[in-house]
Amino acid sequence: MSIENYEKFLQVVDEDLKKIFDYQKEYLCCSEGCAHCCKRGDFPMSELEFKYLMLGFDKLSDELKTKIKANIEITKAGNKDSYVCPFLIEDKCSVYSNRPIVCRAFGVLTEDSKGNPSYPFCTTLGLNFAKIFDKEKQHLSSELVAKNGYKIFPKIFRLSNKVFMSLPLAKKLNLNFGDAKKMVDFL
Ligand code: SF4
Ligand code: SF4
Repeated sequence: MSIENYEKFLQVVDEDLKKIFDYQKEYLCCSEGCAHCCKRGDFPMSELEFKYLMLGFDKLSDELKTKIKANIEITKAGNKDSYVCPFLIEDKCSVYSNRPIVCRAFGVLTEDSKGNPSYPFCTTLGLNFAKIFDKEKQHLSSELVAKNGYKIFPKIFRLSNKVFMSLPLAKKLNLNFGDAKKMVDFL
């Protein structure tokens, strides 16, 4: 397995994700500098993804590395289930090109293992899918889809690291992802 093969894989993943973002675009308001999605989570990833993330870290300036190392110490001392990503610097991802797959899919509507819609947590902050989120019932509402003039309920995709890692392309490229765990457990 080579990093080149993983980069080929990521290219296809990014192309597929772009189509998904396009399908859901009328419900999305992601923009540069909006980083709530990097400030709360456990950011699960595989060993391969972490290795690639650290290749991005290696390319950073000493100043950024020092800031990230300090963030890492804070992360390791805090709540391991939900934390601010230590690679987030001034509300920007310092390792954007090397970010793991979970981050590439931030913000889209997905399906949980039981087949229910799973909305990004920023929905509750008034961001993605907020216009069709029924606050009282705490779920996405078909009624609000119609009321807000949307034509269709957003198309939902099953996206998880497991789904990506089982893509036939991963096998074809001989990728070995290794064990998956929370970002903090790799740091
Ligand atoms: S790696 Fe980058 S995109 Fe992913 S959570 Fe951290 S800062 Fe955000
Ligand atoms: S997913 Fe939500 S928090 Fe993240 S950039 Fe998009 S709108 Fe902002």
